[in-house]
Amino acid sequence: MKTYKIAAIPGDGIGGEVISAGVEVLHALASRDGKFSFSVDEFDWGGEYYKKHGRMMPENGRDLIRDHDAILFGSAGHPEIPDHITLWGLRLAICQPFDQYANVRPTRILPGITSPLRRVDGPELDWVIVRENSEGEYAGVGGRAHQGHPIEVATDVAMFTRTGVERIIRFAFRLAQSRPRKHLTVVTKSNAQRHAMVMWDEVATQVAAEFPDVTWDKMLVDAMTVRMVMKPESLDTIVATNLHADILSDLAAALAGSLGIAPTANLNPERAYPSMFEPIHGSAFDIIGKGIANPVGTFWSSVMMLDHLGEKPAANRLMAAIERVTGDRRFHTPDLGGTARTADVTAGVIDAIHGANA
Ligand code: NAD
Ligand code: MN
Repeated sequence: MKTYKIAAIPGDGIGGEVISAGVEVLHALASRDGKFSFSVDEFDWGGEYYKKHGRMMPENGRDLIRDHDAILFGSAGHPEIPDHITLWGLRLAICQPFDQYANVRPTRILPGITSPLRRVDGPELDWVIVRENSEGEYAGVGGRAHQGHPIEVATDVAMFTRTGVERIIRFAFRLAQSRPRKHLTVVTKSNAQRHAMVMWDEVATQVAAEFPDVTWDKMLVDAMTVRMVMKPESLDTIVATNLHADILSDLAAALAGSLGIAPTANLNPERAYPSMFEPIHGSAFDIIGKGIANPVGTFWSSVMMLDHLGEKPAANRLMAAIERVTGDRRFHTPDLGGTARTADVTAGVIDAIHGANA
């Protein structure tokens, strides 16, 4: 029997609550299936670790998880520590060195969930956003000088390499090709940002030639927000830079009903390093410890993890269990307007996995 080694990093805030729910569900799935199992190593990295050790993860942290089959991540973000320290010290400290350059964010309106878009209740909104996850605006290039003086200067330089742009656009075309609609929308801001974004457009045109069966179009990121709201059915697969896709995918999550549902995969497609799976939401300081965090984002991220591990039947079973549970309002947490608790949703999904409420 195959045993998958999973590194679980709950991080901060509700991260711990949703990751322990996710791990419970993974074990239930494995025992239902009987063909594989999970060996989960948990790492207590994050804000509390920082308060004790002055860093978010140990210096050799990446060596401790490099040989795992996948990483399941909660959230980085602590009320007492500046966000740029928690983000760069943990999440980006894993994503960037592990070259997880493709950040994949599916958005669908699951059964039972109401979109804030009145006209939309399912098939009209079925997207995958591909976010460049290794460079661009989040390359970390820049600096500050003359701090505190009137002449203080600060720069964040967006850095785009042709290799980086080409590989993410090719990844997105391939993903678009694998979906029924075979349509890709390339998002830039090549009117105002006249260097790197123009290179994106050029690379897109070149790479498109390799995919004659995929139709594609271009959008400026500001106009894209309008199209997502007004014509959601016109979109399928979407590719954008690190910053643009970060923003668009939060909008996408809101349009699909709640930030608490949305999943993401940080993929190293070449599999030279482990890939990382996480809900897109953060630490949710306002609901920490209340037991009401929606675990669906973590469950759906686990579906993506199973897919990546090649366990397609188990991935499908878990997705079906999630949809059965979202379809039943008794399992809606307060972010969805219900009164269910994290533990209720988790138990509901586990029951559905075992077929108890099939
Ligand atoms: P957030 O996602 O933590 O919360 C935004 C709102 O959505 C809150 O009202 C919260 O209660 C709600 N929400 C989020 N997830 C939910 C869930 N699973 N169930 C129910 N409600 C949920 O975003 P924020 O408030 O902007 O950030 C809080 C902290 O998290 C910050 O420190 C930020 O840097 C960090 N953060 C980390 C990540 C990450 O690690 N990937 C992502 C986003 C934010
Ligand atoms: Mn974000």
